[in-house]
Amino acid sequence: MAEASVKNKRVISDKYRASYEDDQPALAAALASGLSGTSDIVTEYEAALRACFSNRNAIAISSGGAAITVALAAVGVKAGDEVVLTPTCPLCTVYPIMDMGAKPVFVDTRPDSFSVDLEDLARVITKKTRAIIEIPMWGMPTEVDELQQAARKAGIPLILDLAHSHGSTLHGRSLSAYGDLSCFSTHERKPLATGEGGFILTDNDDLARRCRDYSRFGNLNGRDFGLNFKLGGLAAALGKNRLKYLARQLEGRRENAERFLSQLTHPSVREFTRLTGARTNYYFLTLRTSFADNRRFIDYLDEHGIPSDIKRYGCRCLYEFPAVEQFRRPCPNGERLLNTMTTIPVHPALSGEDIDYMVGVVNAYQER
Ligand SMILES: *Cc1c(COP(=O)(O)O)cnc(C)c1O
Repeated sequence: MAEASVKNKRVISDKYRASYEDDQPALAAALASGLSGTSDIVTEYEAALRACFSNRNAIAISSGGAAITVALAAVGVKAGDEVVLTPTCPLCTVYPIMDMGAKPVFVDTRPDSFSVDLEDLARVITKKTRAIIEIPMWGMPTEVDELQQAARKAGIPLILDLAHSHGSTLHGRSLSAYGDLSCFSTHERKPLATGEGGFILTDNDDLARRCRDYSRFGNLNGRDFGLNFKLGGLAAALGKNRLKYLARQLEGRRENAERFLSQLTHPSVREFTRLTGARTNYYFLTLRTSFADNRRFIDYLDEHGIPSDIKRYGCRCLYEFPAVEQFRRPCPNGERLLNTMTTIPVHPALSGEDIDYMVGVVNAYQER
């Protein structure tokens, strides 16, 4: 039976392009009313973001990468400072640190989660540490509650890069409840999509003001330095319109993930360890594997039309990339995590047959 499903090869797309019938009226209304980053539609979008994620403040930003830059500036990161982060994230998170002339300091992950290992954190913190960044990958909640406590104890601001994690929760609260500043991307591939775009959420009014000021050229007062990272009105109109469909979209992802997992029988493949009290948005379904050669498994999936983010982005610890290798600090847990997993697309445009096909291909894999 598995043989048959493998024979009828499908090509699965990992690109989900949401489109809603009221997108165009929402864009038309914005066109008629004003498009700058300080127009009313941006203010309305920020109000909708606050309500959706239950944070006191939302600042719309031109991209997820820019949101990291603005968050670093808001907590006072300057050239020569150190910023601690796990190395298991995309280059998008480390380049803004390097751009500020700050030094990225890699901290290992936990053995079974992308969260910062707290013992290793104690080893890397110095007097120069100005921020800690946690990056929950593929929407899976990490131990942000424990990290929040550790960061507070150390007196260091915690920035969460939640570019994958719209709608993921821990103990019933958005992950953004646990960061001093939480950065999101709304790039076309992300669960909330505005083409390009991003936003920052925070319950700290002072940090919110700093983010807003920095992203608006310091309000051009000639005293406070800043740059322009405002989100334009068209993207804000799209974001505001699409936010109301986010929960429904995540429900579709959850149904697909559950359908996949209910049929998964391969002895060397299982779902990533789920944290108690955590609810993932299933930006991707992540699978943990125990093969001698994980690359071969991922190549096999690829040959059968099933894409993996691990292959697409050549995922490896950031210090393995030439542009970052000067900051190398080996993180064995992080390396092992990326070498014993893959991602499976479960977005709502996939059919039940697509899901059944993918799990059939996985179950039929024979390691030779
Ligand atoms: C996509 C992404 C970013 C960058 O967001 P952009 O909107 O593309 O600038 C940052 N961090 C992570 C983890 C991402 O996945």
